[in-house]
Amino acid sequence: MRSVIIIGGGISGLAAAWHLRSQAEVTVVEAGPQPGGILRTGTVAGIPVDDGAEAMLALRPEAVDLAKSVGLGADLEVPARAPVTVWTRDALRPVPAGHVMGIPTDLTALRETGLLSAEGLARLSREEELPAPPVEGDTSVAGYLAERLGQEAVDRLVEPMLGGIYAGRADRTSLRAALPAVADIAARGGSLLAALRDRAPAAPAARPAPPVMLGLRGGLARLPRAIANTCGARVLTSCRVRELQRTGTGWRAVLTGAGPRALEADAVVLAVPAYAAAPLLRPHALAAARELGAIEHATTALVTLAFDRALLPEVPEGNGFLVPPVEGRAVKAATLLSNKWGWLAETAPDTFVLRASVGRLGEESLLGREDGELAAVCLSELRAVLGPLPRPLDFHVSRWARGLPQYAVGHLDTVRAVRTAVAGLPGLELCGSAYEGVGVAACVAGGRDAAQRLCAGTEPDARGRR
Ligand SMILES: Cc1cc2nc3c(=O)[nH]c(=O)nc-3n(C[C@H](O)[C@H](O)[C@H](O)COP(=O)(O)OP(=O)(O)OC[C@H]3O[C@@H](n4cnc5c(N)ncnc54)[C@H](O)[C@@H]3O)c2cc1C
Repeated sequence: MRSVIIIGGGISGLAAAWHLRSQAEVTVVEAGPQPGGILRTGTVAGIPVDDGAEAMLALRPEAVDLAKSVGLGADLEVPARAPVTVWTRDALRPVPAGHVMGIPTDLTALRETGLLSAEGLARLSREEELPAPPVEGDTSVAGYLAERLGQEAVDRLVEPMLGGIYAGRADRTSLRAALPAVADIAARGGSLLAALRDRAPAAPAARPAPPVMLGLRGGLARLPRAIANTCGARVLTSCRVRELQRTGTGWRAVLTGAGPRALEADAVVLAVPAYAAAPLLRPHALAAARELGAIEHATTALVTLAFDRALLPEVPEGNGFLVPPVEGRAVKAATLLSNKWGWLAETAPDTFVLRASVGRLGEESLLGREDGELAAVCLSELRAVLGPLPRPLDFHVSRWARGLPQYAVGHLDTVRAVRTAVAGLPGLELCGSAYEGVGVAACVAGGRDAAQRLCAGTEPDARGRR
């Protein structure tokens, strides 16, 4: 394998490019004006802010290691410590530490938060007495958890967490794909709360726990830029692949936009969203293309607002909050960026920046509103929970059409079927947020794995044959 075309210059494609850097001549083809995909920098009141993803999971190593490898280690930033908070039952309420995607492990602490009503708490507290036969196969997150914990716990604890990651719905999301550790407990049968309690450390650690997430000073979009600058690949931007053809020895990508009309290479990595991979795959793997085309995606928008700090009656506390769908609000989450990220507070000490996230699966009509109207809706809801906020200095709306793939019940089987079908196409690999995880770290791992599979597929065997 001497040459590889990577289609899609988001973090998945760029991670693949990084891991192929000493293996092949790599060309990344990106439809957008710059590499990075959902990792993009915008500005509000002249201040650089993350327009999309803002933090990467640090509990798994892939994204953080890659940031260090491309020279950004010194700029990794730990967010301010603050509890996860949910806006529910008319107040901001902290989720007690030790929860697993909102599933509490400390019911005494939960009681004090007022997150659940007395009935909701009583129902949750009965979990250990309920019969708990093993669950066979996959089911929805809500399907399993509502039976164990009660609907209110799902609505007010689990749903907002899940919404923060997938912008989806607990009654449609796969337990196996979204909560594999909980799915393992379900498959064994027995009390969920008892099993989670057994996993939790017996005593609080003497030292503070390592950070769960890390950001980058200046914004997370520095990561794809640094990869693009150091991986040695040719990166074509504003250039879209509209067709993939097989050649005698590899693949030809037919392009539109700036740059060449076509590229040929020994191998190709499709690092685009599932809905974009489907038409390119259709002539070569029809069943896989159908499966990918059927994956639903949620459309979301981020409304970033900048305020003159001097005009704030009180600076809101904490890093932000999540909002359960049962509250009937437009805002599904808000991040108080100036509190959460020290680098931002240093860059713009006189300004207070926060961002609201809107749009879950099925809420497309809300996102049909124009930017000013969307910002006004967010501002009014933020005032309802944070208290009086002055007129913003500036606002900025970034829209992510079909930005988050939904891991529906049976998702792991879908991915397995797609990968099996594609294994029959030599020199073609898939990676991206549609497969083994939507987070930045999972996408980096997916890009690395695609690169490694390509290299493994072309390694000479014991007799030197390829
Ligand atoms: C608003 C939002 C906030 C998020 N926040 C976080 C967060 O804080 N932390 C976290 O871990 N995760 C977060 N995520 C999830 C994470 O950012 C994404 O899942 C991840 O960045 C996806 O990377 P990707 O490379 O697979 O896809 P993308 O970033 O979508 O990149 C795919 C690229 O392919 C290009 N493309 C598509 N079709 C073609 C074509 N035919 N030819 C050429 N190029 C093409 C697109 O232009 C795009 O740039 C967030 C997601 C969203 C939507």
